[in-house]
Amino acid sequence: MERFARERRVFFFEEYIPTDHHLAYLEIHSFAGTAVKSVRPRIPRDWSDSQCQEGLATLLDELFDLIGASEPVLWFYTPMMYAFARQVKAAAVVYDCMDELANFRFASPRLGALESDLMRCADVVFTGGFSLYEAKRLLHDNIHAFPSCVDADHFRAARRMVVGPADQAVIPGPIFGYCGVIDERLDLELIRAVASARADWSVVLIGPTAKISPEDLPRGPNIHYLGQKDYVDLPTYFAGWSVALMPFAQNEATRFISPTKTPEYLASGLPVVSTPVTDVVRHYGGVGGVFIASDVQSYIIACERALELKRTSAAWLTEADQLVAGKSWDETHRRMSSLLAEACERNKRKISAAVSKPRKTARSGPYDVLVIGAGFAGSVLAERLASAGGKRVLICDRRAHLGGNAYDFYNEHGILVHKYGPHIFHTNSQTVFDYLSRFTAWRPYEHRVLADVRGKLLPVPINRTTLNGLYGLNLQDDAEAAHYLSSQVPPLAPVVTAMDVVVSQVGIDLYRAFFEGYTRKQWGLDASQLDKSVTSRIPARTNTDDRYFLDTFQAMPKDGYTKMFENMLDNEHIDIALDVECRDVRREFPQAHTIFTGPIDEFFDYRFGHLPYRSLQFHHESHDIRRVLPAAVVNYPSEEVPYTRVTEFKYLTGQVHPRTSLCYEFACSEGDPYYPIPRQENQALYKQYETLARTLTDVTFVGRLATYKYYNMDQVVGQALATFNRMQNAALPLAGSGVC
Ligand code: FAD
Ligand code: UDP
Repeated sequence: MERFARERRVFFFEEYIPTDHHLAYLEIHSFAGTAVKSVRPRIPRDWSDSQCQEGLATLLDELFDLIGASEPVLWFYTPMMYAFARQVKAAAVVYDCMDELANFRFASPRLGALESDLMRCADVVFTGGFSLYEAKRLLHDNIHAFPSCVDADHFRAARRMVVGPADQAVIPGPIFGYCGVIDERLDLELIRAVASARADWSVVLIGPTAKISPEDLPRGPNIHYLGQKDYVDLPTYFAGWSVALMPFAQNEATRFISPTKTPEYLASGLPVVSTPVTDVVRHYGGVGGVFIASDVQSYIIACERALELKRTSAAWLTEADQLVAGKSWDETHRRMSSLLAEACERNKRKISAAVSKPRKTARSGPYDVLVIGAGFAGSVLAERLASAGGKRVLICDRRAHLGGNAYDFYNEHGILVHKYGPHIFHTNSQTVFDYLSRFTAWRPYEHRVLADVRGKLLPVPINRTTLNGLYGLNLQDDAEAAHYLSSQVPPLAPVVTAMDVVVSQVGIDLYRAFFEGYTRKQWGLDASQLDKSVTSRIPARTNTDDRYFLDTFQAMPKDGYTKMFENMLDNEHIDIALDVECRDVRREFPQAHTIFTGPIDEFFDYRFGHLPYRSLQFHHESHDIRRVLPAAVVNYPSEEVPYTRVTEFKYLTGQVHPRTSLCYEFACSEGDPYYPIPRQENQALYKQYETLARTLTDVTFVGRLATYKYYNMDQVVGQALATFNRMQNAALPLAGSGVC
């Protein structure tokens, strides 16, 4: 807050306290040494709850009037404040979630509902630690973990101080100190036990007491409560301590805490003894001066060891200092500032829900080349032929848009969705990535998928986490996982089918759980009837890498696929015709060479019969919350569920939006052709078409449908680039290159 106050006015709106006055009013204080002002509402004692809320809303509005703030940034540390601030028109709303307040003693029953409201309207959410982030991460689409940092220089001064404050100077050493709020999060019994077990130690507690009555506090001749101290004075107290304590109770209220005091103690040069708080163990458990102990006996032993360490060695501080050095508030402020600026900017230019409009050009032939299909295959070739080949190109599509199956658009809510199901870009090809990078910037994105199997959500491709989760195992490393898998695999004849591939890797039970039903739904065939290439796409792993793809380049076009296609085709030598049929344009421009990227069997009027393609129906829906799914895609292998998978697009696109859009995929045999079906007999039929295609000198066939290959986008781009090179080598103008 203090750092934000260097750039803007910061008012810290505190919880109200009752007054005996009959009017509500605000008390404004300054925080010493900072530009932050504290605003404390005072509300007449006898006001009802609704009067309070109304009164607070009015006071807040008046504060903004008073300081002349028209569109302030609202920054909430508790959802309780949101109840009377929701009417304020804000530049951005931040929810800085520091604790799971609902788990605290005397928490308001309204807290849960208010938090949901706040999550809905917050533009960005910060969590004060990783455990809290993990607990909240599915509630918001722009949520970020900010573990505690430390003003290292401020606390490091403790190492040099010799004269302590008067109230502590009278306490005999060694001092075991605690600094922080004294409330139900502390294990009072543990403090009592430590103090009574070691009468030769002093226990000093600094900080305000909250929600605990004085009678319940542990007392004893060697327990000293010094009350709340100013932040600036803390190092002078720490200087007199031998060991710092974090005697947290292990209860609901401490499940998600990430105590800021940990790095502060370490910066002060103090060994720390903590109970096993998740975030302390996670971030500091491995540091030499940090001792973790859960029961009284081991806690006392840990205190003894910490005291010994403090007395005998300072070597451990090197490691602690390195850790602390990476935890700067300036860096936190920089990252928060940038997220806040993005949020304000986003609010300013609310993305219009309008469908993006591709350039529709008048046809001004003659053309050298007609490109049929404006998907990856067609667009890459159109671009290459026009830019590098100097050809005049007409690219057309029977659909009303560019992009082929990769087409994306902003739906009626302004959410970027993929009309034909999720398209995630990944490639190992530097050439393909560099080529596409000419037309788009990228957003790094690593895809993760969960499968709903036997009532559990487990990562696919199958990895060690999947095995441990499904079977309740505790496989610790690759070797154990590999050993487990090999024990499941039956002796197998040569691996020929898509079923063999899976069974030879993971055995029959995992095959049944993850592949059998999914494949039957997706292809209308059993995996034993499909080529091995189908399931080879997602091999099992023995590690815990849960990414769907392992390619070198994994990213999404920053402004979407359609925008990338528009950039690609933005060339004065390229005209675009949408909503048109191949045969009509070919009739219109009979001299031009044709690049055909549609289904090859259709091109030849099914002369040898229909090539089988699998089709899909997409059901799109939107929800009035920010997140629905626990991952970008959830697969449903069970045949009892009619769809194969569900996608939540915002994971893919990174879009921040109060609503979210999903897409369900239902596989079917009738409809637009989406998937060539990899089987030997289909390949044989395709070969007949391929042979026929080779006899044509004025048509080139490229792409997933035209070459009947189960290709990903990058493979199609690679194929199109190779096709162009071949055409160039064959010296344009393009007399007949047949199938590429
Ligand atoms: P298409 O994109 O199919 O383009 C061909 C175009 O030709 C179409 O727009 C069609 O309308 C047009 N056309 C056909 N016939 C005619 C005609 N007679 N007259 C006029 N126009 C015609 N790949 C990945 O890399 N990652 C993914 O995550 C991924 N997800 C996918 C998800 C789904 C549901 C599907 C179906 C595919 C996915 N793919 C993915 C594959 C990807 O869609 C294809 O590799 C790529 O789009 C193929 O490009 P293309 O140009 O060959 O074909
Ligand atoms: N597959 C499966 N279960 C899954 C995921 C995939 O059985 O949870 C099989 C299925 O046959 C699928 C194939 O593996 O068609 C390839 O999956 P991929 O995700 O690569 O397919 P695509 O994205 O092309 O639909």
